[in-house]
Amino acid sequence: MKLGTKLIHAGVAPDPSTGAIMTPIFQTSTFVQSAPGEHKGYEYARTQNPTRDALQNALAAIENGTHGICFGSGLAATDAVLKLLNPGDEVLATNDLYGGTYRIFTKVFERYGLKFNFINMQDARNIEAHITPQTKMIWIETPTNPLLNIIDIQAAAQVARKSEVILAVDNTFASPYLQNPLDLGADIVVHSATKYLGGHSDVVHGAVIVKNEALAKQMYFIQNSCGAVPGPQDCFLVLRGIKTLHVRMQRHCENGAVIANYLRNHSKVDKVYWAGFPDHVNHDIAKAQMRGFGGMISFTLKDDNVEAANKVLSSTHLFSLAESLGGVESLIGHPATMTHASIPREERIKNGLADSLIRLSVGIEDADDLIADLQRALG
Ligand SMILES: *Cc1c(COP(=O)(O)O)cnc(C)c1O
Repeated sequence: MKLGTKLIHAGVAPDPSTGAIMTPIFQTSTFVQSAPGEHKGYEYARTQNPTRDALQNALAAIENGTHGICFGSGLAATDAVLKLLNPGDEVLATNDLYGGTYRIFTKVFERYGLKFNFINMQDARNIEAHITPQTKMIWIETPTNPLLNIIDIQAAAQVARKSEVILAVDNTFASPYLQNPLDLGADIVVHSATKYLGGHSDVVHGAVIVKNEALAKQMYFIQNSCGAVPGPQDCFLVLRGIKTLHVRMQRHCENGAVIANYLRNHSKVDKVYWAGFPDHVNHDIAKAQMRGFGGMISFTLKDDNVEAANKVLSSTHLFSLAESLGGVESLIGHPATMTHASIPREERIKNGLADSLIRLSVGIEDADDLIADLQRALG
């Protein structure tokens, strides 16, 4: 089955008791047993829930994995993956990570004895050079936030296999429509389903997808033992969201390309970050491992200061000023004062996050209207 068909049909079947075509929201905490230990596969809703099961099966199918394991948020999914490790173990991570991921690594799990080494992975040779006997996991995010750097997943997977460490890929920015890390050799895919999978800015949800029985068993054990499970209503919303992932992503990509090119030719814009440009350093890798370049774009202004950025940020009408991404509506954000405000200015600038850097999550509105909005704001 191809992806568009899987997105609509995988994991779901008409409800056997009523014929309802949409998976019911099983809003229940427990399931009645006919005799002690005799049940229909459902005992208690932290452990199993039919709405969650449908979503988990759908997620496994669309990431070409064997098992999906759902959580209450993207960070709860990340938390569960880190619990595979033991004190003293080391994680080799991208130096350009989602801020919340950086925070849970350094502020929570370092206290429990895990070690994190953040390195530049844009040249995959740098990964192997940093593997130590304590390294147990490589954690990558590609494309990265907000600079849209690209990491070679296949090259990272080769290093992971050779060194016998787990490769985990946060696939939130690409979504399964653009990239399937398990096919490229990754062991674990993590999603903040809050973003493109949900797609409508109405749910917070996370997922882990694996293709290995032993890893799946461990992840289900952690899901049930630690209990960061999503409610059935949220599972329903993500299930509904993914049915249109392919049509939405197609438009996100089309609009993204139009806007990236428009910005690049604008006299007030300095740099534009988007992996679809042939002169992006890792454009060839992006082309090889992704099926499109998505709707996330960042850019800086020639007048590189916070005030100039603020002027743009406060004068768009269709692009709403907000954190998050991946919804049908366009969003605009300022990493220096919003998502990356906790990073000291000096370090932020060193990592390429200029004062005037503006991030766009391009939605699926009509591109002409989005361009008119940016034109007004830049003018
Ligand atoms: C939003 C996000 C997360 C965290 O997900 P939540 O659902 O907000 O907990 C993790 N990684 C990336 C790349 C994200 O954009």
